[in-house]
Amino acid sequence: MKKYVAVDVGGTKIAVGVGEESGRFLGTSVFSTDTKWSQDAVLDRIAETVDQLVSETGLEHANLVRLGLGSPGPLDGPRLLETSNLHNWMGLNWETGLESRLNLPVSVQNDATAAGLGEWMYGAGRGTNDCIYVTVSTGIGAGIVAGGRLYAGARGNAGEFGHIVMNPTGPECPAGHQGCLESLASGTAIRRQGQAQQAASAFLGGFDAVETKDVFDGYEAGDPVCRAIVEAAADQLGLGLSYLIDLFNPEKIILGGGVATHAPASYRERLWHAAIRWSLKTMAGVVELVPAQLGGDSGLKGALAVAVTEHRP
Ligand SMILES: [Zn+2]
Repeated sequence: MKKYVAVDVGGTKIAVGVGEESGRFLGTSVFSTDTKWSQDAVLDRIAETVDQLVSETGLEHANLVRLGLGSPGPLDGPRLLETSNLHNWMGLNWETGLESRLNLPVSVQNDATAAGLGEWMYGAGRGTNDCIYVTVSTGIGAGIVAGGRLYAGARGNAGEFGHIVMNPTGPECPAGHQGCLESLASGTAIRRQGQAQQAASAFLGGFDAVETKDVFDGYEAGDPVCRAIVEAAADQLGLGLSYLIDLFNPEKIILGGGVATHAPASYRERLWHAAIRWSLKTMAGVVELVPAQLGGDSGLKGALAVAVTEHRP
């Protein structure tokens, strides 16, 4: 039976799995990433881990059909352009690097796109033809399935939802512009605003270093400063979602990522209220907000989905 290799690359760890089209993994392995590693070192380590998994699971290399990989973006096709904390790997081409080491076809997508594909195949988007996965964590990203296919764009970067500019005079973003959704509504943005307004907040006053979670705790406790920060972030995110709804007419918006998943229900209610309010009625009437289902598996299952769908004719 055909087996696929899944590789989920993150800034702190890399997960590798060998699995089947059904979404079942026969074996998985995770190792910590040292961002000082050379490009050859990280490629060698991934290839060694694949070989190890193949022998541990009693398979043969000939059983492997394709390797799917989810990488932090932005990408130029299979090549890593720039990332916040992977400077040594800039320009790394996952496809040629792993194909030559493993003698296996390789398909690469950015991590949010891969996670979206995973939710569509194995999670909250199953059974739909049009769904959009949105992740809100330290950053904001999206993976788009339109008309029963992954929508990846010309060079694989479609779904950079976090960098849609909401306010051109807003805070600066490392991507080189101002006031994008990520700079207004991500976990990082919420933390930064909590730190900036710490002195004005009775709740945040006692913390040494304010974290995103502290601002949400203050929000739940009714602290006016924390409430204003979280509500503004939810309103901006909801407005951004209305653009996705009007552009793609999805059946489902699948919300995942650490911040969105752990936030209180009232945060999700507020952002959805904004999304529906600002989208066209014909589309608002059919779209549903659902939580992501894959949780911590979303990266690896997403990479598996990348391998499986690329192999389909
Ligand atoms: Zn940006």
